[in-house]
Amino acid sequence: MTLQVEIIPVTPFQQNCCLLWDADTKEAVLTDVGGNADVLWARIQELGLDLQQIWLTHGHLDHAGGVADVRALKDVPVIGPHADDVFWLDQLPEATAKYGFPVSPVVKPTQWLNEGDVVKVGAHEFQVLHIPGHTPGHVVFYSAEYGLIIGGDILFQGSIGRTDFPRGNHQDLISNIQQKLYTLPDATEVIPGHGPMTSIGHEKRTNPYVRAAD
Ligand SMILES: [Zn+2]
Ligand SMILES: [Zn+2]
Repeated sequence: MTLQVEIIPVTPFQQNCCLLWDADTKEAVLTDVGGNADVLWARIQELGLDLQQIWLTHGHLDHAGGVADVRALKDVPVIGPHADDVFWLDQLPEATAKYGFPVSPVVKPTQWLNEGDVVKVGAHEFQVLHIPGHTPGHVVFYSAEYGLIIGGDILFQGSIGRTDFPRGNHQDLISNIQQKLYTLPDATEVIPGHGPMTSIGHEKRTNPYVRAAD
């Protein structure tokens, strides 16, 4: 009964795609498939895994631009983000073209997510937390069992997500981090969308953008 996690940076933005799998059943999930579907698929084959789902934290191109390419290899359900990010997923063709990525079609999730939903990889559950601010439909995936957050572009080591996009909201981001992330155990590890891993306790003590609420 072991959850395995491997970070595979994808796209020129070095986005931390995660390959999660249940070591007993070999059932696997990819999170935030920004691109490099061939690399991801080769790793899945190498490990002998059975890809079951794709989970998305939000609709930005570096997190969703490779979804169609993976689904061309295996047509798995796309779970998330929250429906408020539909406008981002609808503009993937223009966004990927603008940034010189392989052009992605519009991505239409199989299932939108809401606060309190639960998603599973094999026997292992992750709770869905809705954290608007970077994008309005951003979610993160939290495993209480393993003390692990798949965090997307919310909280980075020493930084936070940008909020200068359409429908971004700085105050929402700060208050949601304080109320939904900084209330988790300090030892909870965070895999951000970019850069090195961190922990809730470390960011509460040192993050210059958002401290624990008084
Ligand atoms: Zn983003
Ligand atoms: Zn990103």
